[in-house]
Amino acid sequence: MRMDTKLIHGGVFADERTGAVSVPIYQVSTYKQDAIGQHRGYEYSRTGNPTREALELLIAELENGKRGFAFSSGMAAISTVLSLFDQGDHLVVGDDVYGGTYRVLSRVFNRLGVAVTFVDTSDVSAIQKAVQPHTKAVFLETPSNPLLKVTDIAAVAGICREQELLLIVDNTFLTPYWQNPLDLGADIVLHSATKYLGGHSDVVAGLVVVKDEELGESIHFLQNSIGGILPPHDSWLLMRGIKTLGLRMRQHEESAHQLAEWLAAREDITTVYYPGLSNHPGYDIARRQARGFGGMISFDVGDGKRAERVLENTRWFTLAESLGAVESLISVPARMTHASIPVERRRELGISDGLIRISVGVEDIDDLKEDLEQALNT
Ligand SMILES: *Cc1c(COP(=O)(O)O)cnc(C)c1O
Repeated sequence: MRMDTKLIHGGVFADERTGAVSVPIYQVSTYKQDAIGQHRGYEYSRTGNPTREALELLIAELENGKRGFAFSSGMAAISTVLSLFDQGDHLVVGDDVYGGTYRVLSRVFNRLGVAVTFVDTSDVSAIQKAVQPHTKAVFLETPSNPLLKVTDIAAVAGICREQELLLIVDNTFLTPYWQNPLDLGADIVLHSATKYLGGHSDVVAGLVVVKDEELGESIHFLQNSIGGILPPHDSWLLMRGIKTLGLRMRQHEESAHQLAEWLAAREDITTVYYPGLSNHPGYDIARRQARGFGGMISFDVGDGKRAERVLENTRWFTLAESLGAVESLISVPARMTHASIPVERRRELGISDGLIRISVGVEDIDDLKEDLEQALNT
């Protein structure tokens, strides 16, 4: 089955009992047992729910993994995966991962004794250097947020195999439609499904897929123990979103490509970050390991004042956090998604006050171009 067909027919297609082609929403917490301890596969909905399970089967199939898990947010998914680690363990983590990931590591898991070294994972030797005797895993995003740096997943997987580390990849930006980290050697892939997978700014959710049964058992134990599960109705919304993932991702990609080239040609923009531009440092790796470059672009307009003016003047680009939905969104990472990162650290990373991030939606490309043009000229 090819990807676009999997999006429609993967997981559970049609309800066995009625033939309904949309998976029913099992809005239920508990299940009648035929005798003590004799149930039909479901006991209690934190442990398992048929609607959530249909989504979990679907995402496992899309990521070519063994088992999938659905959580109430991307952060619930990430926190559950991080609960694999013990006091005294050490992780190597990308230095421009999502702000919430940085926050939960540096303000929650560090209190529990999990140490982290943040490195630029696009430099594979930096990962190698950061590995310590107690290192247990590498956690990365590619392309990263908001600078869209590209990490060679297969090269990092090689290091992880040698040193017996888990490789965890946050695949939110490209989704399984464009990139399958497990096929490149990762052990765990996770998503903020709030973004492209949902695609309509109407659900907050997180997904995890693992490559083998043993990890699957561990994650299921943690999912059931910690309890950050995705409710049935939200699971259904996500499955509905995923059916059109291919159509949306192709349009996001085409429009982003055009806008990135158009922005790069302007003299009043310092830098455009888009992995699909041939002068992007990660262009060759991105082409090798992914089937598309995605719909996210960052660009530097010089200073914070100008960035603010641009954001105040767009009409079709909505000023909002988040990304990956049908509507185009615009943000200033330094003051929004990445505000929880200390200012000196942001400077080191290159997240300047003039950096604007756009999530290119599926509106008419000419409207989007005109809108950015008038906002940039204000
Ligand atoms: C949004 C996001 C998250 C967090 O997901 P939530 O659904 O907001 O909890 C994690 N990683 C990336 C790359 C994200 O964009």
